[in-house]
Amino acid sequence: MKAQALFAVVSALQLAVVANAEGLNPRHVAKRQNAVSTPAASSSASVSASATASVVAPATGTAPPPLASGTGVPPLSSISSGMPTRTAKAAATTYTPGSKPPIAGAPPLPNPIVPGSAVYPPVDKIPPTDSPEVKEWLKELEGHNIPDLAPTTDGSCGADPDKAADAANRGWWSCGGHTRDTDIVACPDKLTWGVSFDDGPSDYIRFKHVHMLYVLDYLKEKDLSATFFVVGSRITQRPALLIEEYMAGHEISVHTWSHSKALTSLTNAELVAELGWTRKIIKDVLGVSPTTMRPPWGDIDDRVRAVSLAMGMVPIIWSRSPSGNTFDTNDWQVAGGKVSGADSFNTFSTILQQASQMETGFIVLQHDLFETTVDLAVGYTLDAALNHNPKFNLKAIGQCQRIPATNLYVETNTNKTFPYPSANGSKANNRSGAVIALAPGSGKMAVLSALAGAALGVMGFLL
Ligand SMILES: [Zn+2]
Repeated sequence: MKAQALFAVVSALQLAVVANAEGLNPRHVAKRQNAVSTPAASSSASVSASATASVVAPATGTAPPPLASGTGVPPLSSISSGMPTRTAKAAATTYTPGSKPPIAGAPPLPNPIVPGSAVYPPVDKIPPTDSPEVKEWLKELEGHNIPDLAPTTDGSCGADPDKAADAANRGWWSCGGHTRDTDIVACPDKLTWGVSFDDGPSDYIRFKHVHMLYVLDYLKEKDLSATFFVVGSRITQRPALLIEEYMAGHEISVHTWSHSKALTSLTNAELVAELGWTRKIIKDVLGVSPTTMRPPWGDIDDRVRAVSLAMGMVPIIWSRSPSGNTFDTNDWQVAGGKVSGADSFNTFSTILQQASQMETGFIVLQHDLFETTVDLAVGYTLDAALNHNPKFNLKAIGQCQRIPATNLYVETNTNKTFPYPSANGSKANNRSGAVIALAPGSGKMAVLSALAGAALGVMGFLL
């Protein structure tokens, strides 16, 4: 009985946390489902069809076999919201202040911040916009053309039919998949996967358990790098984990302070607060400020883009197949019981199948947030890609884009025009810029060349 009671409490806690992950919020679920519909979301049939399926259709039997043996990860069939939760331990960093990071020219590690310090805004809430810090960061928008787009209701097509009808003009990714040249949405080289983990730092990024390999250990064992899109307010709780990621040579990128609301629904000042505080705490902990960001749920439009770029952060989203499916493993839905581990792996298998047909590489959404997502990654998805025939090359997103590691941080960037000189303006503001409208039925070649163009266009800026 005692064990059952404990399990119930753990499950409840897990559910409480997942509500703030990529979304059990029904509005977000609706938004994500709409994201695979036509750009204007005008076809109720397509919305309805996508709403009944996971974002990517289940695999058709050509998936690589699950490969959990020897990892200590549970069998795929038992990875679910009901699985017993093992005890997570936060890593004790072995890195001391003054340690030299693996990025050329990077400052030594600063003195540690105090976890939970009152210096920072509250966890998982949009920071106040009247602080001296936010007022200062707002000045970064001066001289930039920030489109005067009214915030969306909640980032979903369904809640804003008028704005959804204008989604192509707004460059709204999560409502029709519209991108601009400045977005990173793929890797340029075929069969290359730009690996990323979102929503940490989480306790599940690394903890030692007999025979268990977790994300950092797994990546080290396989000599791989990944990009970590981190939530600022979670860094206040686990700064040592961020240091471990960075010092191990992985890329660090901004994923907002609170991860609580869709970015297109925020005011400009709220956007600045979300991005600015995350950039600040990363600098406080690591000594460097990322030059890239990822919008939660991929919710970005031209206003959000322009604010991000004005603050020196290039948006990175994830790929869509030529048929318009988002490359989302749905791993974030397992902890909440929406899909099973096997469902998520099948979705990933379909992604690999589609990716192997693409002329470019790709980026997939997955998470280090929960035990279930980490089990899926280190037990199944990463191995499946490494053992796939043809084999995939796994790289961090900056690596796959051939962006010099130094350009990923303000303090180490040696390109004086990086990321976007205000004199040139931002292509994100150019409404006639390349738009990838990945509606079902879009011509494959047009989509692929648009994807390649987007990747190469960004490379041109970054190199
Ligand atoms: Zn996220």
